[in-house]
Amino acid sequence: MPEIRAFPSGYIQTNAFLVSDLERKEAVLVDAPHFVWDDVAPALAENGCSLKALFLTHGHYDHIGDAARIQKLGYPVYGHRDDQVFYETPETMRSYAYPLDMTLEPVVIDHWVEQGDKIDIIGDSAEVRHVPGHCPGNILFYFKSFHSAFVGDALFSGSIGRTDLPSGDFQTLERSIREQIYTLDRNTVVYPGHGPETIVGQEMDTNPFVSMR
Ligand SMILES: [Zn+2]
Repeated sequence: MPEIRAFPSGYIQTNAFLVSDLERKEAVLVDAPHFVWDDVAPALAENGCSLKALFLTHGHYDHIGDAARIQKLGYPVYGHRDDQVFYETPETMRSYAYPLDMTLEPVVIDHWVEQGDKIDIIGDSAEVRHVPGHCPGNILFYFKSFHSAFVGDALFSGSIGRTDLPSGDFQTLERSIREQIYTLDRNTVVYPGHGPETIVGQEMDTNPFVSMR
């Protein structure tokens, strides 16, 4: 079972997750809010792991603030093509970003991934599922072997992602959650882009926005 550490960072406390296999000495980082590398680099040095990749759940500015910085160090970046405009022209989200003068650096994705892809990483396999609705290119990374899904802003503990941002759509998000998240094993731990982790079964039973009751 890898070690999973959350690094809430940036202007609105966006979660990044460092997933480290301490035996193989390999790690993968999920999402890259502004300034997160200042904390992740020492954490990697501490646990002796080398970073194999940066997985981006979606292209909103608060999840990619440090992505270009990390990529320039030689780490490959994964994302979904439906958010290409956010990745390559983050300025399009400028009016939603506060403070208004924050740095928004574009990132060019190295590996476009899509629904059903399996990524071999840290001696394990991450399944990609497409969960649009919060934005067009939100994906989740599901590690079946250790019951963990990194879902970006699709689903939160007791809540769901905003659908009022450009290209957001509630019906699309609801379908994504029902078909792509609530079909995971009930005991899967959900690691969201903001706030605390939760469990698939708990959200199916009690989420006030999208439940399976
Ligand atoms: Zn978002």
